[in-house]
Amino acid sequence: KSEKRSLSLVVVGHVDAGKSTMMGRLLYELGQIDEKKRVANERGSAKMGKSSFSWAWELDGTQEERERGITMDIALQTLNTPHRIITILDAPGHRDFIPNMISGASQADSALLVVDAAVGEFEAGFDRGGQTREHLLLVRSLGVSQVIVAVNKLDQVEWAKSRYNEIVQLLKPFLVQSGFHPSRTKFVPVVAMEGVNLTRREPADCPLFKWYEGPTLVDLLDALDPPTRDINAPLRFPISNIFKGTTSGITVSGRVCGGIVVAGERLRIVPGDESATVKLIDNDGESLPWAGAGSNINLILTSVDPVSLNIGSVLCRPGSIIPLTFSFIARIIVFDIQIPITAGTSIELFHHSLDVPASISRLISVLDRSNGNVIKSKPRVLTKNMSAEVEISLRGSLYSGPASRALPIPIEPFSVNKEMGRILVRRGGETIGAGAYHPLRAHQLRLI
Ligand code: GDP
Repeated sequence: KSEKRSLSLVVVGHVDAGKSTMMGRLLYELGQIDEKKRVANERGSAKMGKSSFSWAWELDGTQEERERGITMDIALQTLNTPHRIITILDAPGHRDFIPNMISGASQADSALLVVDAAVGEFEAGFDRGGQTREHLLLVRSLGVSQVIVAVNKLDQVEWAKSRYNEIVQLLKPFLVQSGFHPSRTKFVPVVAMEGVNLTRREPADCPLFKWYEGPTLVDLLDALDPPTRDINAPLRFPISNIFKGTTSGITVSGRVCGGIVVAGERLRIVPGDESATVKLIDNDGESLPWAGAGSNINLILTSVDPVSLNIGSVLCRPGSIIPLTFSFIARIIVFDIQIPITAGTSIELFHHSLDVPASISRLISVLDRSNGNVIKSKPRVLTKNMSAEVEISLRGSLYSGPASRALPIPIEPFSVNKEMGRILVRRGGETIGAGAYHPLRAHQLRLI
């Protein structure tokens, strides 16, 4: 049985920085891709005249992705490093795929940012309009606090130490501004395509090792802090999917976002007054006596009225149910939007698997993104890239179903339960912001 700690990692960066290549090559170097599959990928990509993409084939699953040579959706893979089991969420780099990336990043504990060291390429990714900045801000706003920056394609700049240092010096202040603590930010020079400095300091005669003495990428991955999964917290099991009842009950799937669930216990379905009994806890066909925070599982429920179960409902212990609300205060980061946000702006609120109509009912303050201090109270509008405190109110009826009435949403402050506190804000199909529920402090309540 493995004693390794597990965590999830979102891979971000500008398109073509080498994200898929790096992941494919890493899997290979770690012995997780067999030679047969590698040769098949090499042949397949050569046939299409894209042999430089052969490593990326490991991750870029669909035909369309292969033809376009890009990673569109989140591909899931597991990296088995000496001390960690890392679920990688490979995020796409193209602008229109940002919503996909968000769903990956909101499950991530750490981020790997890949940048292209080639002259002009790093700059293109880092400038306004490039994805390097936007991705970093996004993952930070979704609660990711550790980042490894892999400076890739050093073969394109003659392995120059000066170029590596230049990129590190450009990124450092931006990472701090985005809210990453310097001690939680690491840099590493690599050449993904050749496997240089991914798992080993090889090849030994590579010019990189004339000046680079530091850790390899895997050394850094291996030292990532796993999240503290709070199994002592109250049980929170948001339902992300419901499957038609077999003869034995109704199956719901989701992730334990706090506490533990024990087979046989009776749980409350929030919102509502109904309950359900956990007949079985199923993890990939294996039945478990209990499952703790961080596990993705299926629960087979019995003694339950099927209409009381909705996607987005949270299963809780009867004595400690999750708070419910029709309106709350959130700190958000506003994305690169064209139309400013004003009080009353209609939005779709995403919270876990819930997607509900809401509005930004009040603009409370504009915040300094680096330290959270209030820059301006009661702003009239919010424009792109601002950080702000706002009030979000639900509107209309929520959960669909026979009793289609307005129900409050189950949500907890970010400080109490990160996963249950994060939100996303969309308008007209475009993601306009991300953030979390942060109740106002007493002195602030008097001011607004
Ligand atoms: P992604 O869009 O970030 O996933 O980038 P890909 O992994 O698809 O790589 C984009 C291109 O960069 C492909 O042609 C790769 O072969 C190439 N590439 C990746 N890593 C390196 C590297 O270390 N050196 C060089 N010269 N090219 C690389």
